[in-house]
Amino acid sequence: MYKGQKSVRGGYEDFLCPFTDMYITQGANGTVSHRGILANDVRGRVSGIRYPYYAPCSSKCLKVYPESGQSMWQSLEKVRFANGRIDYATYMIAHDNDMVSYVGKIVDQGDFLGSMGDKGNATGVHCHIEISQSNDSSWYKNQYGNYMFNNEYNPYDCYFVDYTNIIQGLGGDFITTSEAPLIELPGSNAVDQIIYVGSKVKFDGIFKVDIIKRGTNLFGNTLLTGVSYSNYYNEKAKDYHWIPLDDFTEVDKYGSSVSQDDIVYGGSSYVINKNIYEVKEIDIPTNSAKLNLNGRDIWVFSTFLYEVG
Ligand SMILES: [Zn+2]
Repeated sequence: MYKGQKSVRGGYEDFLCPFTDMYITQGANGTVSHRGILANDVRGRVSGIRYPYYAPCSSKCLKVYPESGQSMWQSLEKVRFANGRIDYATYMIAHDNDMVSYVGKIVDQGDFLGSMGDKGNATGVHCHIEISQSNDSSWYKNQYGNYMFNNEYNPYDCYFVDYTNIIQGLGGDFITTSEAPLIELPGSNAVDQIIYVGSKVKFDGIFKVDIIKRGTNLFGNTLLTGVSYSNYYNEKAKDYHWIPLDDFTEVDKYGSSVSQDDIVYGGSSYVINKNIYEVKEIDIPTNSAKLNLNGRDIWVFSTFLYEVG
């Protein structure tokens, strides 16, 4: 990555490779200092130079070990790893001679994180990096005397190498974000249909009004929001997912607005919405997008949205 680089898709930061030039001198599960651990030692283009590296995601410093130029960081939110997993990242970097990290320091994705060095037990200038795909910050010695995390993954399973020049990759199967597209949605083929924060979307379909909340011009719809009227009625759901009716137009069930009076009834009326909305947030587990309709934030299933140019 380069300084200041950011990558956010579907509401999650992509965990990026911190190095602009990556020359791996020792791979994961090596013979001596990497035995039993999934660390990489990385130097830059020219050996002996203390190149800077950058925060792979927005992170907070949890621990420092100044005697070995070492600092432990954790992502502020869950991130997307190169193997597709979405979870917290906890990672250790080592050998920075002029370490400026301190416990509690917060960096944004792309901010300066540290420099390659030879502080501590290091052979030549490099950065030792080790990554756990979890928020478990346990740091312990394994049976070979090397420190490690629980749930460590090989760096190529962790970071995307967008704008990283791999000079020596030691056979690692590194990928970029373009090789890991998000879930595609049906609809318009004018745009990629990958919905992310900031995408412009329209409602796709004709929707039956399940229930009307009188006096507030709100309606409920099972298709769009997933809470059924019967669950609401039987108090199995705390709240109905109310949607402002204002931007919707009454139609018949075939989508024609001819001879409709725009007086909408729960259980018998159909509506469409031709407006364009900007996606404010994404929730991957439920495949939902947050939109603001008439000043009210609502979550709707992405299946019923399509991206527009
Ligand atoms: Zn190392």
